[in-house]
Amino acid sequence: MESYDVIIVGSGPAGMGAAFSLIKSGKKARILMIDKAPYSTGGMRNDCKMNFTFPIGFPLEYWEEDMANAYLAQVIEFLKPDIMPKSNIETYQARATRLGCSLLEIRQTHLGTDGGLELIKQLQQKLRQSDVELSLGETMLSIDNKAKTITTDKRTLGYRTILVAPGRQGFHFLQEVMQSLDVPFVDNIVDVGIRVETRIEHYPIVRDYYDPKFYFKEKVRTFCTNSGNAHVVREKYATGRGDIWYSVNGHAYAADESKNNGLVNFALLKTVRFTEPLASGQEFAEHLGLMAALMGGGKPLMQRVGDFRLGRRSKAATFNGDLYDFKPTLTGASPSDISLAMPSKILRYIWSALKNLDTIVPGILHPSTIMYYPEIKLYANKPQYRDEHFQVAESVFFAGDGAGTSRGITGAWASGIRAADGMKDYI
Ligand SMILES: Cc1cc2nc3c(=O)[nH]c(=O)nc-3n(C[C@H](O)[C@H](O)[C@H](O)COP(=O)(O)OP(=O)(O)OC[C@H]3O[C@@H](n4cnc5c(N)ncnc54)[C@H](O)[C@@H]3O)c2cc1C
Repeated sequence: MESYDVIIVGSGPAGMGAAFSLIKSGKKARILMIDKAPYSTGGMRNDCKMNFTFPIGFPLEYWEEDMANAYLAQVIEFLKPDIMPKSNIETYQARATRLGCSLLEIRQTHLGTDGGLELIKQLQQKLRQSDVELSLGETMLSIDNKAKTITTDKRTLGYRTILVAPGRQGFHFLQEVMQSLDVPFVDNIVDVGIRVETRIEHYPIVRDYYDPKFYFKEKVRTFCTNSGNAHVVREKYATGRGDIWYSVNGHAYAADESKNNGLVNFALLKTVRFTEPLASGQEFAEHLGLMAALMGGGKPLMQRVGDFRLGRRSKAATFNGDLYDFKPTLTGASPSDISLAMPSKILRYIWSALKNLDTIVPGILHPSTIMYYPEIKLYANKPQYRDEHFQVAESVFFAGDGAGTSRGITGAWASGIRAADGMKDYI
């Protein structure tokens, strides 16, 4: 059996943050990073727009501002981001404030899906040069923390300390790991909403601020704005029983201006927190996802704002020519009526936020604007951590979106560094 001082499961930003922090510490350690995907550096393959201002990407239950800023400084030192300029922010902020909403000014950079792939290549090369073994296409299946071993689909591996950072798609897997380690957890929070797609001239703020972060009443916010060569995509999820549903998402390419489609997309999400009786956010999300899949013939739903306002479903014809002058970039979605699938309370708050947004940036409620549903963020596993380094059991650490310690690339990277600070005690 091969044994390592450190095993890192997941090559996303959380795993990367931990690996580079351990390398920098100068500790002599044999490090292995595995990832089930054959390529990967996790979510950095998608759009790769990075936010460098607290609290974006930092769940407040785990991060105080001072601590987050200290870790963010390390992320910045490593990634050396090119912060994008912004303009006219005060004007938008004043309009938002008048409506009781706010616009956060965030330091951002945008590499695009293509730029992200380039960065990933460099990161993987750097890891290898630093003697970190990288095993892609290898999946962790289970852990035995008494024997200090994990089983993968290829072999059994020994460790002194391990970081499990499987991202949002590892949500189920992480719950299995927690059950086998007897780690108590709840997943009582989930974000549910829509993805909006429209022409840039109907949401021109993106020319001033690439990914504007608006906060509305009732915990609704804009999230992950993409523009230029921007596309709506769908992500496949399976329930514990193997039923398939989709969440929508979005990304953009940075290079090749000539391919710009003139469109923008962003998510509008409402945070739902369950208290009494405590419910699983994941199961709630799955029920919503399955309902949408049922209505959409196995696909997510899409509806034009014009149809929505008239209380009509959108039909295939609604997406062809005529007044509706742009084609949806997500072809795998079904024209439908999102109000039949979405809980009314969530829909009411989302619609109210959209009306406020249309007052702040007039145009977004143009009849051609498309609302895709559902966009769901399943990152609310909340394990009971033993310490501030996200240790869940003797020498076992979690980090990243799947473990609830982050909600984005930079937060995940910072979480990985924070976990590595605890892992160093076991090397
Ligand atoms: C379409 C899309 C666009 C996005 N755009 C942005 C953006 O622009 N900006 C931003 O900040 N965030 C964005 N995000 C979110 C961002 O990707 C995540 O916040 C971030 O990647 C989380 O990092 P992580 O390390 O926790 O997990 P991930 O990046 O998801 O990495 C986890 C890795 O673990 C691997 N893995 C899972 N299970 C196992 C297992 N059992 N064994 C071995 N390996 C396993 C996975 O293959 C994956 O590579 C986007 C997400 C998507 C899906």
